Amino acid sequence: MSKPQHAMQELFSQEALARRVAELGAQISADYAGRDLVLMVVLGGAFIFAADLCRKITLECSLDFVRVASYGAGLESAGAIRLVQPPSHRIAGRDLLLVEDIVDTGLTMQWLLHYFRNQQTASVRFCTLIDKTERRQTDLVADYAGFSCKEGFLVGYGLDFSEQYRNLPAIYTLLDAADHAASPNP
Ligand code: 5GP
Repeated sequence: MSKPQHAMQELFSQEALARRVAELGAQISADYAGRDLVLMVVLGGAFIFAADLCRKITLECSLDFVRVASYGAGLESAGAIRLVQPPSHRIAGRDLLLVEDIVDTGLTMQWLLHYFRNQQTASVRFCTLIDKTERRQTDLVADYAGFSCKEGFLVGYGLDFSEQYRNLPAIYTLLDAADHAASPNP
C-alpha cells in the first residue's frame, strides 16, 4: 500500500485483530447457542469487523445493517443521533447483538440500545471491537469488547478518517488527528 498521507502508529496488528475476533466469535457462539441471533451491524465502520466476526460464529444467525448519523463537524460525537438506514428484516422476538466498531462517548450506542429495546426484541446486547474509555459520557458496559484503549483517533480495519484508511488491515492511531477536521459521519 502507498504511504499514508497522515502520520500514524500501529495500535492493534492484523494478527492481534484476527486472534481477538476469533475469541469473540467463539464466546458469542457459546453464549447464543439455541437462540435466534441477529447481528445488527452498525455501518459503515463495523463492516470489516462484522465480516470477520460473523465467520467466526458457528451458529446459524442473520445479519442486518443500520446506519446512524452521529457526528457534528469535528472528531467528537455531537450527541445528535439519527437513524438514516433502519433494519431491513423482522427483529421482533429475536436476539439482537449490535456490532459496532468503536464506542467513544457511548452516546451512539446508548441511543441504539434504547431504540432497539423499544422494538419488541427478545434481547439486545452489543459487541464493540474497541472500547475507548476516556471520553465516555454514559455508564454503558460492553457485553463484548475486543480491545480497550483510553484515547486517540483510530483508523484502519473499517475505521475511517474522512472516508480514508478504512482498508488498512491493522488499526492505527492518527498522530495529528486534532489538526484535521473530520467530515460528518456517515
Ligand atoms: P460515540 O457516540 O460513542 O462517541 O461515537 C461512536 C462513533 O464515533 C463510532 O461508531 C465511530 O463512527 C466514531 N468514532 C469514535 N471514535 C473514533 C475513532 O477513534 N476513530 C474513528 N474512525 N471513528 C471514531
